[in-house]
Amino acid sequence: FTLALPVSSVSQYVQMFFDRLIAKNPGENEFHQAVKEVVETLVPCLERHPEYLSHRILERITEPDRIIQFRVTWQDDKGEIHVNKAYRVEFNNAIGPYKGGLRLHPSVNLGILKFLGFEQVLKNSLTTVPMGGAKGGSDFDPKGKSDWEVMRFCQAFMKELYRHIGANIDVPAGDIGVGGREIGYLFGEFKKLTHSWEGVLTGKGLAWGGSLIRPEATGYGATYFAEEMLNTRGDSLKGKTCAVSGSGNVAQYTVQKVNHFGGKVITLSDSNGTIVDKNGIDAEKLAYVLDLKNNRRGRIQEYADKFKCEYFEGMRPWFVKCDVAFPSATQNEVNKEEAQMLVDHGCFVVSEGANMPSTPDAVEVFLRNKILYGPGKAANAGGVATSGLEMAQNASFSSWGTEEVDMRLHTIMKRIHKTCVDTANEYGDPGNYVLGANIGGFIKVANSMIDQGI
Ligand code: GLU
Repeated sequence: FTLALPVSSVSQYVQMFFDRLIAKNPGENEFHQAVKEVVETLVPCLERHPEYLSHRILERITEPDRIIQFRVTWQDDKGEIHVNKAYRVEFNNAIGPYKGGLRLHPSVNLGILKFLGFEQVLKNSLTTVPMGGAKGGSDFDPKGKSDWEVMRFCQAFMKELYRHIGANIDVPAGDIGVGGREIGYLFGEFKKLTHSWEGVLTGKGLAWGGSLIRPEATGYGATYFAEEMLNTRGDSLKGKTCAVSGSGNVAQYTVQKVNHFGGKVITLSDSNGTIVDKNGIDAEKLAYVLDLKNNRRGRIQEYADKFKCEYFEGMRPWFVKCDVAFPSATQNEVNKEEAQMLVDHGCFVVSEGANMPSTPDAVEVFLRNKILYGPGKAANAGGVATSGLEMAQNASFSSWGTEEVDMRLHTIMKRIHKTCVDTANEYGDPGNYVLGANIGGFIKVANSMIDQGI
């Protein structure tokens, strides 16, 4: 295999490649953003491994294996009929079955799912569990819907999706808008349609094939990752003031784990605003948040009313003074100005619980200031890693105890951290977790693709 480079340098090739990618995938801004961030940092790796270029790995790894698009028709409680667009992007299965969450949110479109699927390929590779990458979802808005409406939507969604997935084919899970309740309805419908009980979804209920620690895993993982980063400077989370955004599953268990390490979380947020509780969100207040968000599906403002703390309508938490930030809400939730504000106020650790929560120029601020910046595909990989552990338990008809799963999760997060650090050192940019995660995740997938031919 040979490739006569049409240009004089790899970075020029990468630029040409990227221009072509934009032209071929118009309007998919988040996907462009995710690919750009990765390919830019791959340059030194591509210089060292010309075979990746001659095998056209960049072109192949950024084009999903397939995209399934379908219509979901469902009836609301009044009997009215609604139509939603839905997708499953099966991005890459070089190292294992397609794996990745389903997102239900009005902002969902193909560009967003392609960005998430692409991130998932590299993230899953970093976990060391054999899983390919995928993502799916719909522009359905769960907000304000009754349980029955959510159930009918999930059943209608699965009526199309079931033919494309399977325990060894493609294993969806939760993401924004999809938690235990939705996974239950999806699983029930899959079982009916296929007459098969298999580990086709992760994030299942404990009684029916789910894994202990799966609900906690993303938040715990992001916290373990922060602790690992701090350890490289002989420091720890103990006594640190932390800002967490979001108030869903990831944010909730980040708070719990930070408390466990002796840190103090002072913020949570949702799409309406941010609460700042200078006294810290202790176990009792966290129990209130879990009930508020998971059972009552209320707004975080109620926390401020109940515990008499400050509430900032329409604001994100990044204006507060903190040592550590955990962006755990959604993509592009930290912009350049906010990143600068964080750094100016003394924040020196960022561990991303969400996928791509920092804009490119926010990332630049973090890197320029040499803070400990753990990008999402490394820092939030604990969720999908524990999904991998759930798959392993299902495949072997077994269920492991809490300590066993948590210990494995902790070990995986330490390994991911080490991969990032070692790779960054190897490529002469110590402390650059972005480069470490991107190259570390990429090499395994690229080599597997070469091994398996075209
Ligand atoms: N949605 C999560 C993520 O972004 C978890 C995916 C999974 O468990 O498959 O990684």
